[in-house]
Amino acid sequence: MFFNIRFFLILYLSVSLHSILSKNMTFKELGLKSEVLKSLTEMGFEAPTPIQLEAIPNLLASDSDLVGLAQTGTGKTAAFGLPLVNKVDGKSRTPQGLVVCPTRELCLQITKDLENYSKYLDLSVVAVYGGADIRRQITQINKGVSIVVATPGRLVDLIKRKSISLADVKYVVLDEADEMLNMGFKEDLDMILESTPEHRNVWLFSATMPKEVERIAKTYMSNPFEVSIGHKNQSNENIEHIYYSVKERDRYAALKRVIDFNPDIYGLIFCRTRMETASVADKLGKEGYSAEPLHGDLSQVQRDRVMDRFRKKEIQILVATDVAARGLDIDNITHVLNYNLPDDIENYTHRSGRTARAGKKGQSIVLINTRENYKIRTIEKQIRVTFTAGVLPKPEDICAIQLTKLIDSVIETEVKEADIEKFMPQIMAGFGEMTKEEIVKKFVSAEFNRFIDYYSNAGDLNSSGRDSDRGERGERGDRSDRGGRDRRDRSYDEGRQDRPRRDRGSEEGKTRFFVSVGQRDGLNPGGLLRLICDSTGLKSGNIGKIDIMPAFSFFEADQAETDNILRKVNGSEYEGTTVNIEITKNKGGGSDRGSRSGGGGFGGGNRRSSGGSGGFRGSNDRGGDRDRGGDREGFRPRSERSGSDRSERGSGERRSGGFGRSSSSFRGK
Ligand code: AMP
Repeated sequence: MFFNIRFFLILYLSVSLHSILSKNMTFKELGLKSEVLKSLTEMGFEAPTPIQLEAIPNLLASDSDLVGLAQTGTGKTAAFGLPLVNKVDGKSRTPQGLVVCPTRELCLQITKDLENYSKYLDLSVVAVYGGADIRRQITQINKGVSIVVATPGRLVDLIKRKSISLADVKYVVLDEADEMLNMGFKEDLDMILESTPEHRNVWLFSATMPKEVERIAKTYMSNPFEVSIGHKNQSNENIEHIYYSVKERDRYAALKRVIDFNPDIYGLIFCRTRMETASVADKLGKEGYSAEPLHGDLSQVQRDRVMDRFRKKEIQILVATDVAARGLDIDNITHVLNYNLPDDIENYTHRSGRTARAGKKGQSIVLINTRENYKIRTIEKQIRVTFTAGVLPKPEDICAIQLTKLIDSVIETEVKEADIEKFMPQIMAGFGEMTKEEIVKKFVSAEFNRFIDYYSNAGDLNSSGRDSDRGERGERGDRSDRGGRDRRDRSYDEGRQDRPRRDRGSEEGKTRFFVSVGQRDGLNPGGLLRLICDSTGLKSGNIGKIDIMPAFSFFEADQAETDNILRKVNGSEYEGTTVNIEITKNKGGGSDRGSRSGGGGFGGGNRRSSGGSGGFRGSNDRGGDRDRGGDREGFRPRSERSGSDRSERGSGERRSGGFGRSSSSFRGK
């Protein structure tokens, strides 16, 4: 009898759990107030997202702490926002809910969302953030507020001035906790949490779970329940990760190929420094692409303007630093382009998470030079994603795509009959005796010649090509990249601590290769020999010395086979692990393709960075209203505080000549 009751109890619980987790569950079944449900209906929210399904009923049913591992774009704002507006008491004049987030943009976005959710409840939500008049914010707080949404620096300022009381706070939400800690808000967060009552609940959301976030959870939370979309430190499955391996000097040309191959791109290009950001955006702008920079040297007004235009799709591509793009949560971004990988691998998760939001698909594209292959492997291991080795599109394929786009946009062009009518006699007279075919050819050529000119002699940029592959006649790489080469890539280097100096000379006539797998991956000399010979068709006589190390290996091979080996062994598999190989630096006169400057390529040592010097020293309204004096939001990160690489520009419209891409290739919808 007892057994039967237990059996039915388990069955009942399983069915309940299944129905709770079922995709068909509605917001109503989650237990939200009718007023909240009404606003959700108006907002067009039909069914809860997975994180909402997990978080909302738990937060409504009990007063407990929560750790939510989720990226932006998963619906996490509503996952904490809906229970929050449901639970706080609107009658209280001092805040019961406190949301802390890293940037001003995110702060305003969350405030707007909470106001929407609570439209039919008697609540007030106030946003407090740096760079805005603090007295106005104090006045708003004094009028009585149910929920405060704050950036850490400004909130600490208010606490120190005793302009805000957190004594009645029941729920503290830490949104994008990893970002806040990355930005140096550790002490501020400690102070904020210590200023709230002991028995408040903390709901912490983070895309990744580094040690510092774990420390916050351990220090300020008790028995939190964990909701997680994907694994820890894993990125969104709707993102396709692709890398293109190019020579350093072809980085910029490769970027343009990716953009040209995707005429409808709505993308974010990430650079490592302000200078690189300004330089890439400037070059793209001068060549007629719809691209603008977003970095910390722009004033708040300029940044707002650029972001607003990007949101409205008046700009097709935003070129940004990691810090400047924080809080830029925009749906529908099709591509994230990593012009250079970030120093910190965690930032790769944040970058790529800007695409494939709200269930959509997106691509995160990485441009690397031949020496950076190991970085891809490190990211793959750390955040458990798989990269595809991409092949840059051929010039003829790009031209075909652009031609189709051009034809489509001509066909779609609205003819304003009434307006054009009066010009028709002039138009017809102008074309005189020309046939329809001649006229069409001329019109298409007017727009398309630049692609034909640019790509007619363009060769293969994929890095397995020979030095003579150089083909992009227009722009030859981004020489300003050089500054970044000297930086120490701490996070990646950690993964290769045991890697010896790679400047050992190789035997005369041989090239020495670095291999990304080693003893720990089960590799031995025989295995490596087989791998090389099987992939390339070479004989063991072509292969020289083999050194198997714990985490990686080296081998030497006939110099004449260098390209063959690079092309064929790279990306092959050894017992389930993708193998990446690179040429090691060779002082002994052997092949060192990465740094060889033969034929006037990159890396001649005497080439100086020219980025940032030209083109954008013009008008700007820096200094005035920047939020530097108040919050640190966004623009004083550790990595960017040196200020030595400043480049400035106004963010106004530019449509200067060059490649002359008109807005016809992209129309905001
Ligand atoms: P978030 O991750 O909170 O930034 O949300 C990403 C996007 O998804 C935002 O545009 C939200 O408005 C939208 N969203 C969140 N939850 C839902 C839902 N249940 N149904 C439809 N859209 C949603």
